[in-house]
Amino acid sequence: MEKFEENIANVIKRVHAAAERSGRPADTITLIAVSKTQTIDAIQTAYKYGVREFGENRSKELEEKATQLSSLPDIKWNFIGSLQTKQAGPVAECGHVFHAVDRVEIATTLSRKLDKYGKELKVYIQVNVSGEETKSGFDCSAWETNVDQRDTLLNSIEVIGKLPNLEIQGLMTMAPISASASPDTIRNIFRRTKNLSDWVRTVYSANQFQKLSMGMSGDFEIAIEEGATCVRVGSAIFK
Ligand SMILES: *Cc1c(COP(=O)(O)O)cnc(C)c1O
Repeated sequence: MEKFEENIANVIKRVHAAAERSGRPADTITLIAVSKTQTIDAIQTAYKYGVREFGENRSKELEEKATQLSSLPDIKWNFIGSLQTKQAGPVAECGHVFHAVDRVEIATTLSRKLDKYGKELKVYIQVNVSGEETKSGFDCSAWETNVDQRDTLLNSIEVIGKLPNLEIQGLMTMAPISASASPDTIRNIFRRTKNLSDWVRTVYSANQFQKLSMGMSGDFEIAIEEGATCVRVGSAIFK
């Protein structure tokens, strides 16, 4: 268990160093400890060492953990995986941030369910910039040249932006896993996503799309160097 303390300190140190390299204050980067599959004990230990943002990707697991840890008032639950509409209830009820709006339908469902709980939810629009078929998100694999991809994304954002109870934060993406792609390839995906985010911001609204959720254990430093404001780190913390 005590290993967590060292892992967390080490990850935080690396986040700070990467923020410095990107010319931004470290406190503008949010570290999410991805606690999916981890025990309540593990989450409590991470909490003890100062972690407040946790990431889950199963609706039922989120509900169970949020319920068991409801005595920790400042804990924040991030839902980071794709979500089926019939499992949206617990995310609306317990979630603070949803990182994976990959279609209008899930945003509509969450918006409606949030009404019931009198809650708001911060959301990220997930984009698939790498073009890998296994990845969810709006297809932005050739957004620089493909007008249809840009139109679909913008039209969807337009609809999602009008839904009550949802606050769009920005874009979220996943790079190819580091085992199968070179650092240059990964960097390029993050850079293209940052460019897309900048473009959406100029077209859509200056106040939104200030945030960018990208980077995992294998690539969070590259992501920060390329403009991530939020990294989702699991195994580097809970190993
Ligand atoms: C599991 C997961 C992470 C964390 O992955 P690690 O490699 O363990 O850091 C981040 N983002 C998403 C969307 C995930 O599903």
